[in-house]
Amino acid sequence: MINIALFGPPGAGKGTQSAFLIEKYDLFYISTGDILRKELAEETKLGLEAKSIIASGKLVSDEIIVQILEKTIKENSQANGFLFDGFPRTNIQAYILEGLMIQLNTSLNCLISIEVPEDVSVTRLLNRGLTSGRMDDNELVIRNRLKEYEDKTLPVLNFYKEKGNYIAIDGNKAVEEVTTQIEEIINKELSKKLMNVVIFGYPGCGRGSQGMALSKKYGLEYISTGRMLEEEIDGGTELGKRITQIYESGELVPDEIVVPLILEKIRNSRTVKGFIFKGFPRTLVQSYILDGILKKHNSTICKIIDIQVSMLELISRLSNRSKTTHCKPYDTSTEKIVRRLKDHEEKTIPVLDKYKEIHDVAIVSGEAPFEIVFERMAVEIENGFKNLR
Ligand code: AMP
Repeated sequence: MINIALFGPPGAGKGTQSAFLIEKYDLFYISTGDILRKELAEETKLGLEAKSIIASGKLVSDEIIVQILEKTIKENSQANGFLFDGFPRTNIQAYILEGLMIQLNTSLNCLISIEVPEDVSVTRLLNRGLTSGRMDDNELVIRNRLKEYEDKTLPVLNFYKEKGNYIAIDGNKAVEEVTTQIEEIINKELSKKLMNVVIFGYPGCGRGSQGMALSKKYGLEYISTGRMLEEEIDGGTELGKRITQIYESGELVPDEIVVPLILEKIRNSRTVKGFIFKGFPRTLVQSYILDGILKKHNSTICKIIDIQVSMLELISRLSNRSKTTHCKPYDTSTEKIVRRLKDHEEKTIPVLDKYKEIHDVAIVSGEAPFEIVFERMAVEIENGFKNLR
């Protein structure tokens, strides 16, 4: 979940920017001004109460704001995140927002302040007044709104400066340029909230098919180093030829080849919600590499799942697969299968043991039909998402 507040004087462009951001990041938009105008148009008790205050350009009471927000937030608690426009507008509302976020077991990622000089605000609002039909887009009320902004709303910035999640941007630029500045900030915030899953389990336990299906269901990028290496071979690239030679010699593909492939995949996956790693990390060294890669993106491992299947069942599955068209180059003989299982025992089990000391490793039994194992995995991933909030 990602929660952002767009801040700035009337006419800064908060509404314009919001329209694009809610679409791109699938956020639920909360504009207290829009909600109040709707209440007003529908002539509800609340709308009538706020009418004269809005018409004068003053701020409506915190009681009214809490009433409309509590309802909207509760009704949409499953949203991907919230984009607030026009709230918080006073120091008290900053505390109210903290409380509302706690109720959802989440927090505000940052407050983005779109800064524009006063004369620009006035010109923009007067222009908007020609077509908006808003009763408060006229010069007298615009001046009042800006005064309210200066007196009551600007001090809110100190709240967020002290918290360390205030970010200012230059709003006196073309719409697209302002959008780019906001996108950069949100992308950075999103990368801190990536849901990174590592799936462990012996070869043949079903980690590949489960990993792929889970990545589709949850909008996560599936990173299987084995598959990426195969793609290089199938593509007939120079790298692919080198990898084939390494496979034939029976050596492990070195980290110098595997790591750049992972980095490239991550670089090309800017809008995903996270990653599912399968077949990496395979060694203790690679476990440190993965920590480093994720740290560079301000992120970390969120969930580790170990799929457990008995050794007899593994051997039976792998040798059955070797007789089908799904046969992998490293599963073509019993010797190769046994060597792969042994390799896993020697090199990868110590990685899992290391993680067990520092993470909560979820154990899922893989000896059931695909759909049942999938359900078990899905429960674990959804728990991981809850912890991300
Ligand atoms: P806006 O559409 O955000 O410019 O808001 C229009 C008017 O609605 C403001 O001038 C206020 O009268 C009222 N309003 C909107 N949001 C708030 C808020 N968070 N607190 C108090 N009054 C608000």
